[in-house]
Amino acid sequence: MRFELVPMPDGVGARPRDGRGYPVPAITPWHGGEPQFALTDRDRSADCALGRRCSVCGRLMERGPVWRVVGPAESAAIAGALAAGQPYRNLAPTMEGPGHRACMLYASMVCPYLARPNARRRGTAENAVGGDAADGLTSAAVRGAARGGLGAVVGFGDYEYAVTDNRVLFRFLDLVEFLPHESADEHLAALRAELAKPDRGR
Ligand SMILES: [Zn+2]
Repeated sequence: MRFELVPMPDGVGARPRDGRGYPVPAITPWHGGEPQFALTDRDRSADCALGRRCSVCGRLMERGPVWRVVGPAESAAIAGALAAGQPYRNLAPTMEGPGHRACMLYASMVCPYLARPNARRRGTAENAVGGDAADGLTSAAVRGAARGGLGAVVGFGDYEYAVTDNRVLFRFLDLVEFLPHESADEHLAALRAELAKPDRGR
């Protein structure tokens, strides 16, 4: 979705921009004055983790649930667990840090890397499904292949992290909200509603 059509949380609006006007997430490294959207900066990510700050806007996350954007494989796993009436548990660590609900709804619609976080690290079939679809080449076959949609914005009751020498790893616990999408544009109404809440201009 064209980013200028998506309402920005205040914290996102306060981020530095790249040459096109895209807000640059808090965990994105800069090289030579250019943000490297496909990468996660270890020090920036560590600062966010240690300060309980949002990986998108960089502002404090209050106590309570946190959110992240997941790709098609994890979305399908969550959908499967819910359909089976089982708790969803995924103890595989990820480099994707948590954020505010509004920030992750925003990121799911605007940021191609956050919207398909697995695309940049693994050369799997999942990568091809998420990448092609997110690039506008969606087909009925692709839609049918992913029961959990092409991704999701997911809320978790808690998270834990570990800072190592070269990266920060997160684990997410206690699923509290599951918002799958076939197209991330579907989150526009949810984002508008989130931003309209009192004290939620983030
Ligand atoms: Zn935020």
